[in-house]
Amino acid sequence: MRDVFFIERDPYAPVRHCYTVSKVLYEGKSEYQEILVLESPEFGRLLVLDGVVQLDEKFEFLYHEFLAHVPLHAHPNPENVLIIGGGDGGTLREVLKHRCVKRAVLVDIDREVIEISKRFFPTLSASFEDPRAIVVNEDGYRYVQDYEDEFDVVIVDSTDPVGFAHVLTTEEFFRFVHRALREDGIFTAQTESIHYHLDMVVRIQKTLRKVFPLVDLYTSVVPIYAGYWWTYSIASKKHPVRKPIRKVDLEAKIYSAEMHEYAFLPEGFYRRILEGEFSY
Ligand code: SAM
Repeated sequence: MRDVFFIERDPYAPVRHCYTVSKVLYEGKSEYQEILVLESPEFGRLLVLDGVVQLDEKFEFLYHEFLAHVPLHAHPNPENVLIIGGGDGGTLREVLKHRCVKRAVLVDIDREVIEISKRFFPTLSASFEDPRAIVVNEDGYRYVQDYEDEFDVVIVDSTDPVGFAHVLTTEEFFRFVHRALREDGIFTAQTESIHYHLDMVVRIQKTLRKVFPLVDLYTSVVPIYAGYWWTYSIASKKHPVRKPIRKVDLEAKIYSAEMHEYAFLPEGFYRRILEGEFSY
C-alpha cells in the first residue's frame, strides 16, 4: 500500500510538517474555520484547523501540562479559572486536576471544535463532563470585558495570532484580562515559536510589561509545532511565578515542581532576548 501524506498549510511558520495519514476521520467547515481530523500511525489522531495541526494524541500533554500547571501552581489558591480557546478540552482537563478549582469557564468562539473533540478526542474532551466546567461559545476578547475582579487564573489557548485570534495579543486585551483578574491573579498565553516568532514573543512580553508588574517567559518542547521549542508568556499581579508555591500533588506525565523551574529561561538569557541582544 502507498503512504498518504498530509502537508500542513501554515501561513504563520516557514516550515511545513508532513504527516503520514492512514485515514481521514472528519472533514468540514465551521462558521470560523476548516476542521479536519486525521488518523496517523505515528501520532494517533490529529486535529487540524485551517490547515494547521493543533494537537496530536501522542504528544499533546507536552503542551497542555505546561500551559495549565505552571500558572496554577504559581497561584496560592486558584478557584476560578478562565480558559480562552482550548475547545479540544486538553487545557481544561489539566486545570480540573487541581482539586482547589471550583469553576473553570472555557470560552471558545467555535462550538464545532468542541463537538468534534467530543466525537473524536475522548481523552481530552472528557473534561467537559466535569460539573465544574462551564462552556461558553463567544469571542474571548468580548467575553473578558464583562468581568472585574473575577478570575484567579486566565489562560489563552488559542490558534495562531492571526484572524480572530489576533486580538488576544493586544494591549487592550491584556488590560481587560488584568481587570478581570483578582488581586493575586495570573495570566498565561501560548505565544508560539521562540525560533520563528521571536519578534512577536518580545512584542507580547513588552506589551504585558505595560500592564502587569511581573512578566516572564517559559517554554516546552512540542514536537508537532513549528520550531518545536514553544513559548508561553506569563504575567502576574502579585506572586513570582518561577517556582510552584503550592505542593505539586496531581498526576502528570511530565510536569513536576522540578520541571516547573526548568521550563523558565535562565534570567540572563531572558534579559538578552528582551533587550534585543539575542536574535537570529
Ligand atoms: N493548542 C493549540 C495550539 O496552540 O495550536 C490550540 C488549540 S485550540 C483548538 C485553539 C482554539 O482557539 C480554537 O478552537 C479556536 O476556535 C479558538 N479561538 C481562537 N481565537 C479565539 C477567540 N478570539 N476567542 C475564543 N476562542 C478563540
